Amino acid sequence: MSETISELRCIACGQRKDVKTRQFRCDACGDLLAVEHDLERLAARLGPNPRASFDLRRAEMQLPYASGVWRYHELILPDLPKEAIVSLPEGNTPLYRRGAIERFVGTEQVYVKHEGENPTLSFKDRGMTAGVSWAVHAGAKRVACASTGDTSAAMAAYAAAAELSGVVLLPHEKVSAEQLAQPISYGARVLALDTDFDGCMKLVQELTASGAIYLLNSMNPFRIEGQKAIGIETVHQLGWQVPDWFVIPVGNAGNISALGKGLRELHALGLIDRLPRIAGAQAQLADPFYLSYREDFAQRHSLTAGPTIASAIRIGDPVSYEKARAAVQELHGVVTEVSDEEAMEAKAVSDAAGVHICPNSGVALAGARRLREEGVIGAKERVVVIATAHGGKFASTTLPYHTERQGPLANPPQVMEASLQGIEEALG
Ligand SMILES: *Cc1c(COP(=O)(O)O)cnc(C)c1O
Ligand SMILES: [Zn+2]
Repeated sequence: MSETISELRCIACGQRKDVKTRQFRCDACGDLLAVEHDLERLAARLGPNPRASFDLRRAEMQLPYASGVWRYHELILPDLPKEAIVSLPEGNTPLYRRGAIERFVGTEQVYVKHEGENPTLSFKDRGMTAGVSWAVHAGAKRVACASTGDTSAAMAAYAAAAELSGVVLLPHEKVSAEQLAQPISYGARVLALDTDFDGCMKLVQELTASGAIYLLNSMNPFRIEGQKAIGIETVHQLGWQVPDWFVIPVGNAGNISALGKGLRELHALGLIDRLPRIAGAQAQLADPFYLSYREDFAQRHSLTAGPTIASAIRIGDPVSYEKARAAVQELHGVVTEVSDEEAMEAKAVSDAAGVHICPNSGVALAGARRLREEGVIGAKERVVVIATAHGGKFASTTLPYHTERQGPLANPPQVMEASLQGIEEALG
């Protein structure tokens, strides 16, 4: 047995690799590798009362335990030395509960886990703190990713914090101005390519194949370990009570894989006494995972994703398909899809309740409502909807919804002359 608690394991053929390898694909079959922890040794590391020690760490003001990822260090990357941790810090995001959102979904208890309140305004920070910390541990000097936006923002910020050089490949003119502004200002080398996301993805894999540049895309299995902390932190915030459902938007499917993995491990370690169900939500014009789910995962679908306001999940061939399929099946999950109109309406409801979310999060919220309407989610069930990014990153989608009255909840500003009488008349 190796001296590390974790190793990498091929998700298709099971071949094992040392956790310190720089390779993220199996050399036998080419499929993805996943981090696998020896849960018995991990339990021994955690000690007799892990809930109590995590509770104590919540009071901690200093890093690393003040981070909502590294509070759970042993569950995330037990072999990572504390000194290698690069934290901004991240996590500790709120669980919002709003009557208007509960009425919209149609169940008694709905929480929005707002991952947009991370340092770079998306959940990608949780994966990136793990990926960049591991890159530092592995001695990398240069890191790279392909991204529709949020991944590149997170990578650029963590690379800057770690004083690593960051390289971002993104599809030219397919990301919002807000999304482009972040990696540029965090100092990464940004290459805007004349292709789509899948094209950038292919090139970044070729660029990093030799190992000279460290790959931080979602096939990097260490990022998944950091993202597990969304589910772990949520049940911790709920006093270790497990909700009935987690609803999450699905693009490359890394996040839903992470959610499932983290919850399964918590259950296996005895930190929670039952498993929740999970629901993936996709945009109608970018729904390969939904198509596979509908056929009971008889085949893996891939397609050319059409235009959707949910730009972060406009993905036709999800990299983490196999991991996500396993997560959905093991947590007795479902997958749904919604239109852009439904997603924008859901976003408008959440925004107007004071919880400003992105269109991708709107897909998850609209998905929760659809599953409730279909009777899949019960009226008394407790639902956690994961909001993946902050609405402030997506003003270019939010503004036209209101100013061009694209939907029933549009709230455009009223332009008028500067007179008290006019104002009083307008306000009634
Ligand atoms: C990355 C991202 C997603 C999709 O997550 P996957 O792991 O690719 O499924 C959804 N929403 C936002 C805001 C994102 O940045
Ligand atoms: Zn393999």
